[in-house]
Amino acid sequence: MRYSKLFGKTIKEVPTGAEAESHKLLVKAGFIDQLMAGVFSFLPLGWRVHRKIEAIIREEMNNIGAHEVFLPTLQKKEQWLETERWNTMEPPLFKFKDRHGRELALGPTHEEVITDLARRFIQSYRDLPLALYQIQNKFRNEMRATGGLLRVKEFVMKDLYSFHETEDDLVNYFEKIKDAYHKIFKCCRLAAIPSMASGGAIGGTTTYEFQVPSPAGEDKILFCKDCRFAVTKGVEEIAAGQVCPQCKKANLEEISAIEIGHIFNLGTEYSEKMGATFTDAKGKQKPIWMGCYGIGLGRLMAAIVEVHHDDKGIIWPKAVAPYQIHLLAINIENPKVVKKTKDLYEGLQEKRIEVLYDDRVDVSAGEKLAVADLIGIPTRLVVSEESLKERGVEVKERNKKEAKIVSLKEFLK
Ligand SMILES: [Zn+2]
Repeated sequence: MRYSKLFGKTIKEVPTGAEAESHKLLVKAGFIDQLMAGVFSFLPLGWRVHRKIEAIIREEMNNIGAHEVFLPTLQKKEQWLETERWNTMEPPLFKFKDRHGRELALGPTHEEVITDLARRFIQSYRDLPLALYQIQNKFRNEMRATGGLLRVKEFVMKDLYSFHETEDDLVNYFEKIKDAYHKIFKCCRLAAIPSMASGGAIGGTTTYEFQVPSPAGEDKILFCKDCRFAVTKGVEEIAAGQVCPQCKKANLEEISAIEIGHIFNLGTEYSEKMGATFTDAKGKQKPIWMGCYGIGLGRLMAAIVEVHHDDKGIIWPKAVAPYQIHLLAINIENPKVVKKTKDLYEGLQEKRIEVLYDDRVDVSAGEKLAVADLIGIPTRLVVSEESLKERGVEVKERNKKEAKIVSLKEFLK
């Protein structure tokens, strides 16, 4: 991609009211644009990152044998009355009427829709276990939507729902999900801590939040550095400074963190309320055990930026970077330099390497270097008179200080 043709260039002004670094950086670097508080457009660079995160999540969900579905955003009031959440959901549902006067909600989550599917499609123990997931828009009627992509009213979420014969089977499945989540977050270069938590509006008994320590986080967790035990503040009677209940070696420290994933043991709450049962091996009708497991994609993207940035800009991990290489030239008054840069751009494209080429002629080299640092693509290549003298190109990794000149041939290899 030629930067001159890219929609969504970097901007100088920090958005008003932006406090979180990820909010400032993603807007300044041209990844996202705010339509209103808590509602964002993803520009081409931002959408590339979002799609990469989506692909990583989808691969892990498929690896654990979950089936992908796509459920509607518009949801029926009747189903929310069955689970008694029409008036109690927090934050309140986005509700409206269609032209026939029927009340509808914009889905903040899909337990109602999925449990209805389960009660009609799951009949016998032979149909279990089953796991269904989707990657779809969610709507939350938040009072305060601040922090850029960290707290929003509309966002894309991966939500997985699992169905089991017994609680044991569900609890064993938790371990599978934890592994899958760790793989996803590791790919995004985030060291997420599973923290014991309460179910909140979704309900359930044993739940875990995956928390990334960050000053931008709205959550507080009590964390043991020794054994990595963690509990979300306010859950159970555990306090900061107390000896770790797991290893009994260190004291628990209170730290701020961003919740990037959540897994819930729903028990049989929804299946009992909505009548989702199965016939067991002895011919007896039983309620289905359910779990649900979420990851907000935009928030995950913001968390990556919160953890991976410096005072110059974003430092994308390779797996989610919008492009792998940021190419630019210095001394563009020299036609030889321009020719070499263009050749290199075409060579990289032929090799199907994702490259962003800053081909602008009305911008100084200094500004191009600053833009490269702000956007944060993992590898920067600079062609200059100096690099050509050595028949090479200057290579610099965004997360390292030193640049080195590598021969063009060697680099293309
Ligand atoms: Zn401990």
